[in-house]
Amino acid sequence: MAVLGAVLGFIGVGRMGGPMASRLLDAGHRLCIYDVSADATKPFAARGAEIVGSPAEVASRAELVLVSLPTPDIVRTVALGGNGGVINGTRARLMIDLSTTGPGVATEVANQLAPRIGWVDAPVSGGVTGARAGTLAVMVSCPKPAFGEVEPILKTFGKIFYTGEKPGLAQSAKLANNLLAATAMVATSEALAMGVKAGLDPRVLLDIINASSGRNSATQDKFPRAILPRTFDFGFTTGLSYKDVRLCVEEAEAMGVPMVVGAAVREMLAITRARFGADSDFTHIARLLEEWSGVEIKG
Ligand code: NAD
Repeated sequence: MAVLGAVLGFIGVGRMGGPMASRLLDAGHRLCIYDVSADATKPFAARGAEIVGSPAEVASRAELVLVSLPTPDIVRTVALGGNGGVINGTRARLMIDLSTTGPGVATEVANQLAPRIGWVDAPVSGGVTGARAGTLAVMVSCPKPAFGEVEPILKTFGKIFYTGEKPGLAQSAKLANNLLAATAMVATSEALAMGVKAGLDPRVLLDIINASSGRNSATQDKFPRAILPRTFDFGFTTGLSYKDVRLCVEEAEAMGVPMVVGAAVREMLAITRARFGADSDFTHIARLLEEWSGVEIKG
């Protein structure tokens, strides 16, 4: 049982991991942190967290190791890689993956870590704002005893949805959600570009949609917050959104579930990534439609 005072490991303190680790410190936990970016760890060193030089060192200091990392390959390397992976640590009992990695890698890594280190899928949704406020949706799959142990910690991040014991199950839930979030961004960009070109004020059009049947996470949040004010700073990169939709379509295809719309959304994200770069905010999808249509969706 993780009690206050026991050291928790945290690997990857970026846009999402940073605020989540910060909430654990606020709640009174002690943290041992590793991140390849010194800029990312600096504020945590200033708050008294121990900063170490590899995943294995984290896993030799903490029984529970949380990770929030960009891609499936990085999660695999951090867990199993060379001599410096979590698997080489002497103390870790549970590895808790807060990243979006897809069910394939979750199953593979869980099998390789077992039986000495248990695996907990805990992908999150709700963006940087939700990570700061502790209002994320936290989707969890793991054996029941492990769930009992990690539940109090994951509650620090938001509302928990336990999906079952099978490794990767929570990842499937997360991919389904992110497919819809990306689809909403693409379809809303098309609809708004059409409306603006027809002569509508985009604010008025968003008000109409948000009082009508077309409302979605892009019309209610992303467009008013990051596109109309031209800040394009929602806090989620085009590269990561592309990764999520690609993983989702691949998983669906492997199970014999056709994703015609999903494949089109994946290609729109690939084009946005080629045009604006993998590190661009994924609200740049709207800028692609603006360029193609010769309009600006600004409020
Ligand atoms: P990010 O790039 O901001 O953060 C990732 C962090 O991991 C960075 O600090 C980076 O330096 C570090 N890192 C990279 N490689 C590493 C390695 N080998 N060892 C240790 N640290 C390493 O990404 P993010 O937006 O915080 O996303 C993290 C995960 O959460 C992703 O899987 C993403 O899909 C998911 N996610 C993001 C959001 C969002 O809105 N940003 C929302 C929900 C889920």
